[in-house]
Amino acid sequence: MALAGTDAGNHELNETLTRLEQLEKNYNILKENVFHGQQISQLGSWTYDIKRDEMYRSDGMYNILGCKPEELIISFESYYMHVHPDDVEKVKQADKAAREGRESDMEYRIVTPEGEIRYVHEITKIIFDEKGCPAKIVGIIQNITERKLLEEALEFRRKHDELTGLPNREYFTEHINRLCENSLSISDPRPFAVMMLDLDEFKRINNLLGFTIGDLMITQISARLVDYLGETAFISRYSGDRFAIILERFDSLEHCSNIARGILSLFDRTFKLGLYELDAAVSLGVSIFPNDGKTPEELLNNADMALLRAKNEGGKRVKFYSRDISRENLRLYSLRKDLLSSIEKNQLRVYYQPVVSLMTGEILAVEALVRWQHPVWGLVSPGEFIYLAEETGYIIPMGKWLLREVCKSYKSWLDEGLPRIKVSVNYSAVQFFENNFVDNIKAIIDEYGLDYHFLIIEITESILLQRTEKTVADINRLQTLGIRLAVDDFGTGFSSLSYLGAFDIDILKIDGSFIRNVTSGQANEVIIKSIINMASELNILLVAEGIETAEQHRHMEKLNCYAGQGYLFARPMPEGDFKALLSRGGSIPLRKSG
Ligand code: C2E
Ligand code: CA
Ligand code: CA
Repeated sequence: MALAGTDAGNHELNETLTRLEQLEKNYNILKENVFHGQQISQLGSWTYDIKRDEMYRSDGMYNILGCKPEELIISFESYYMHVHPDDVEKVKQADKAAREGRESDMEYRIVTPEGEIRYVHEITKIIFDEKGCPAKIVGIIQNITERKLLEEALEFRRKHDELTGLPNREYFTEHINRLCENSLSISDPRPFAVMMLDLDEFKRINNLLGFTIGDLMITQISARLVDYLGETAFISRYSGDRFAIILERFDSLEHCSNIARGILSLFDRTFKLGLYELDAAVSLGVSIFPNDGKTPEELLNNADMALLRAKNEGGKRVKFYSRDISRENLRLYSLRKDLLSSIEKNQLRVYYQPVVSLMTGEILAVEALVRWQHPVWGLVSPGEFIYLAEETGYIIPMGKWLLREVCKSYKSWLDEGLPRIKVSVNYSAVQFFENNFVDNIKAIIDEYGLDYHFLIIEITESILLQRTEKTVADINRLQTLGIRLAVDDFGTGFSSLSYLGAFDIDILKIDGSFIRNVTSGQANEVIIKSIINMASELNILLVAEGIETAEQHRHMEKLNCYAGQGYLFARPMPEGDFKALLSRGGSIPLRKSG
């Protein structure tokens, strides 16, 4: 063994010192690494010696707590001061478990001295003594605030509608599920109301003015609802133009009904959407827990039925669910469902109603009108199912089917040498704004090798008010092909006639409501006269719709209206009947009263 003082001894001492220095250096590097490592991964650690009641906390731990070591009382219990009040119990339980030898893994919140809330994830491990008793608790804690906030943001997104920020359908479903569950678990639950709110004719706005305007409208409606109902209701955007609302706080059915009517009156004010000022109306269907249903499905279903009823009665109204409603709606439900297979099951028919010269009774054209021969409900009129077809998009295949039928019939009339009249076909906005609208029509007529000139397309003026590039281009193309353009239901929709100058309209069909009152009021007559003057200046042919009496006929003729259509001349009829009528000379004997 080398001794101190000797050369060899000195040498050895130096070596030992160098080694020690090296070790200390290594230790410091390691310590620093742990410190930085903890900082980077936002980790902290602590060790509690149970027997000695000694607490050690790493620098990372202080970082997470947002305070300096000297600011913290180093005791086990003092820690709870830093924990979010709502989470203290949870942490205490875990500590108790740890002292009893059970490890834990949990998340909770810390509140920094500045009041900032931090989420942490903590894992505790137990070190046991030789007798198997817990001796030390070691805790690793990580600041997971960023991750938590991201999760919360994602969760918010998952549960909310992007456009309005309202709870979405998924969140609504969760909410109503929980509400039903809770209510059923108590003996005398409070009633709550489920309200289904749907915009009347929203599809029309969307199709007419585009989705941007539609979206603006939805946003403004949502703001009005939130403003009116505030915190008293759970308002969600259930789907496109449908809002589902849960109302928990009302004193009586009457109170609830007042609130529902208040919602309707939110729509008394017009909506300012960019350049447009639009009116909107809604219908509301309401069901009440527990009378109208105890499960979310029943409640939603019944609110839906009430809504359907409200719409069917003309919209702009509130309907509370009742058993009668479900009976009335049975028909509507089955129609909606059955419609989708009506073509395939060969249930659709085309009826034809002549358009005649008011002077001579000669058949100038014929309007093709769709009918539905339903196995249970009989012949259903388009008034009942066109809007269902528009809503479901079925109007597109239906329209193509109808045009094919028309072409088939028209070809057979030509083959039999019948008079070359024109045929009018109705197109609603959903059909008109379909991509390739013109190409599709052209292709179908081509299938039958017909000349395009026989066709008249009837659209409503609302389509023309949207003077988009596509509308202008499509109408130009139609007319270049030789297809005529008729404006249907003229006078009922918009008072603006600006489109008359922009498009080269061939035919105006004056709505039946004018004709019906033509013999009674002065005002109507003035309007009709000016329509007739304007039409003759613009070289537009006029057709008076809905002529039912000889008096109306005479009157319209006197006003120089060119053509007419109505029950007086002929009701819409099956193809066979119409063909027979055509083959008898193509003219309807006029019964003009004196
Ligand atoms: P519309 O285009 O205004 O068609 C005229 C409607 O008035 C027809 O009702 C016709 O039967 C009815 N009508 C004819 N003469 C008289 C009369 O003298 N008095 C009265 N009170 N009514 C008369 P319909 O066939 O029930 O059609 C209703 C609506 O359904 C049509 O109104 C049209 O907008 C739509 N429609 C019918 N077929 C089609 C179709 O194939 N496609 C599209 N998109 N819509 C259609
Ligand atoms: Ca029509
Ligand atoms: Ca019409």
